[in-house]
Amino acid sequence: MDKTPVLIVGGGPVGLALACELGWRGIACTLIEQGDGTIVTPKMNEVNVRTMEFCRRWGIAQDVHRCPFPPDYPLDVAFVTSLSGYEIGRMSRAPRMSEPSEPHSPMRLQVCSQMWFDPILQRFARTFPQVRLCYRTQLESFAALGNGVSAAVVDLASGQRRHIEADYLVGCDGANSMVRRSLGIGLDGKTLGHPVHLYFRAPNLLGICGRKPTTFFVTVDRGGVWSNVRVIDPLNDMWRLMVLDAGSALDPERVDREAYLRRAVGRPLEVEWLGTSVWTRRSVVSERYAKGRVFLAGDAVHQLSPTGALGMNTGIGDAVDLGWKLAAVLAGWGGTDLLSSYEMERRPIGLRNVGMAAEFYRDHQKADDDLAFIEDDSTTGAEVRRRMGEVLVRDIGRMFRTVGLQIGYRYENSSICIPDGTPAYPDDPEVFVPSARPGSRAPHAWLGENCSALDLYGRGFVLLRLGADAPDGSRLETAAAQRCVPLKTLTVTDREAIQLYEKRLVLVRPDGHVAWRGDTPPPDGATVIDRVRGAASLGLCTPWESLGQHYVC
Ligand SMILES: Cc1cc2nc3c(=O)[nH]c(=O)nc-3n(C[C@H](O)[C@H](O)[C@H](O)COP(=O)(O)OP(=O)(O)OC[C@H]3O[C@@H](n4cnc5c(N)ncnc54)[C@H](O)[C@@H]3O)c2cc1C
Repeated sequence: MDKTPVLIVGGGPVGLALACELGWRGIACTLIEQGDGTIVTPKMNEVNVRTMEFCRRWGIAQDVHRCPFPPDYPLDVAFVTSLSGYEIGRMSRAPRMSEPSEPHSPMRLQVCSQMWFDPILQRFARTFPQVRLCYRTQLESFAALGNGVSAAVVDLASGQRRHIEADYLVGCDGANSMVRRSLGIGLDGKTLGHPVHLYFRAPNLLGICGRKPTTFFVTVDRGGVWSNVRVIDPLNDMWRLMVLDAGSALDPERVDREAYLRRAVGRPLEVEWLGTSVWTRRSVVSERYAKGRVFLAGDAVHQLSPTGALGMNTGIGDAVDLGWKLAAVLAGWGGTDLLSSYEMERRPIGLRNVGMAAEFYRDHQKADDDLAFIEDDSTTGAEVRRRMGEVLVRDIGRMFRTVGLQIGYRYENSSICIPDGTPAYPDDPEVFVPSARPGSRAPHAWLGENCSALDLYGRGFVLLRLGADAPDGSRLETAAAQRCVPLKTLTVTDREAIQLYEKRLVLVRPDGHVAWRGDTPPPDGATVIDRVRGAASLGLCTPWESLGQHYVC
């Protein structure tokens, strides 16, 4: 019988991110994945700002920066009647490695296909001796034990069956999650359509169509906005044509790929076909994110329209939120409410992001009577294209202007964040408002050469004293030490940071969100520390030594 503190089911980007987060925190875990880790037809391409901030914390941002997508390739979005037809609008997006970086983050969004990103996570996870990645291993069933979960797994290469006992099981097993279904947890939401993906290799496609380097083409013709064409690997001429909705779920063998390609490119073109996939565009969120000692993360709990590139990025946010909480509970300093705060914090973010992605998709469906003229070589045609271009950049372009969505999510009404009485600020997808209001991601400010305030957070709690004369934080330090809660006090004198954080004492959680802040020390440090470690009802925690796990104390 194998034993592991955490059994992760599914080795997509979310399961891998959880293995990385736990490994980085010194926690042992086993990940099982039924596939062999090879990605033939990558879905995800955009690693957003928040995920890049996590990569920076893990020390793998450079690996993403070095991925084979050319660093100077413009990330432009063009609206065209076809690749060889009229260009009716363009959104310039700077290359992924250009300067300056995002103003409110040390990182910027990266285009890095899943076929490169997943292996970066795999390699990082493997650097931790306590993390085991088992490929070609499938979960068959699981059952609750008194103090854990027992999982029946099969090695798909040998057919050998075995049991793994875990303190916690996390289902990161994707949209069709067997873990979620086994728990009897349903999905709320609806189906939006049945897209088709066509992957192909087409050398010099842009040259043939007379186009400058562009990452993403949205095609709009007399039938409306019907597809997009994205370069996946410019150095190897790999492209993906997505038909937004084929009407019904087609058999991939029966998809008329030549017809779709001809319509998108606007002329006959010989390509090397690399793959076809037909999938269902859903806008759903799981009713629950956990049951007992079993948790769910990623596509297992939220399935988003890819409009807005939020799917994996939301899932990695789940993994980071759950990761530090599991680590804290396994180390003994996390209280009983800590794990229940996972659903409380992450499900609202799932609902928010699923809702926004669906709205971005609806932007594609706005009909326009004048579309009949959009391809006409006439004055009317030119006028329709000019007007439509503006509308498309404004409306469909929204899904590329999402900095507020990426880093502006905050944990309202969380049981482990202590409100300070300040009102909630607007949650605008396009605009990011930095704030140290409890529940928010603690703001970035440069504190020195290549040193961001975000670099201070991660391992444990950080108590920031803002200003050389900030009040003393010893009440919180003492309470934390008595409870073996890892807490480090740092004094920051940078003027920008002092302004951004607004209060003179700010307590930041291991995931970089603000837990508490105030201008004066709390009257009772223990009340604050117990609340933020999810033990408000418990007082002093179980001595962590007795649990046999070691954390920084
Ligand atoms: C066209 C398209 C473009 C996208 N672009 C983006 C983007 O730019 N940015 C973004 O953030 N997101 C994007 N997404 C969404 C993103 O791809 C998904 O959200 C992400 O892959 C989900 O990751 P996951 O690890 O939760 O699930 P998955 O990637 O589905 O991984 C689940 C894994 O679990 C394994 N598994 C399942 N059952 C078992 C079992 N019983 N035993 C063992 N293993 C099991 C599966 O084999 C699979 O590898 C896009 C999606 C699409 C369709």
